[in-house]
Amino acid sequence: MSNHVKKIRQVVETLLLENAVEFAPVPVEKIAKMQGIEVVLEKFEDANISGFLYRDHDRAIVGINPSNHPNRRRFTLAHELGHFFLHQKLNEVHVDRDRDFQVKLRDNTSSKGIDPEEVEANRFAAELLMPVKFIEEDLKQMDEIDLLNEDALKKFARKYGVSLQAFILRLANLGKISY
Ligand SMILES: [Zn+2]
Repeated sequence: MSNHVKKIRQVVETLLLENAVEFAPVPVEKIAKMQGIEVVLEKFEDANISGFLYRDHDRAIVGINPSNHPNRRRFTLAHELGHFFLHQKLNEVHVDRDRDFQVKLRDNTSSKGIDPEEVEANRFAAELLMPVKFIEEDLKQMDEIDLLNEDALKKFARKYGVSLQAFILRLANLGKISY
């Protein structure tokens, strides 16, 4: 496990402990608010914008596109929290667009032209929404064959409040399945 993944996992574990989160789905909006972050639904002129983060000395705001699917909104919020905790930038608006997520969901820092901060924010989102301890616990109750069963995977994705694609990528990144 690379150092930056270790660091991300540590930050997430502390957050889960502080917020007494023991089960999925992880209450990502509550966690954001406990950090004093304002979460607003905002219609963007550019429909491809999924969310943004703004912070200055006094406040931090995350904007989420309300027309996105709820799973996607959770992922966007978790991604912006990743920027909040990992990338300290003041007085700057960070905007995320759909295509940023699509190409960067895979945990591949070596790909050309991929901003490492986006990779880290996506990794943070995956760690927060699908904590490794919760996944390990759930996998204990699954036969290995279930990992190939789309209905079983869908059920777990629903439990975590994530898309099937995000759940499968998470299992792949944890080495539970090959993808
Ligand atoms: Zn981002």
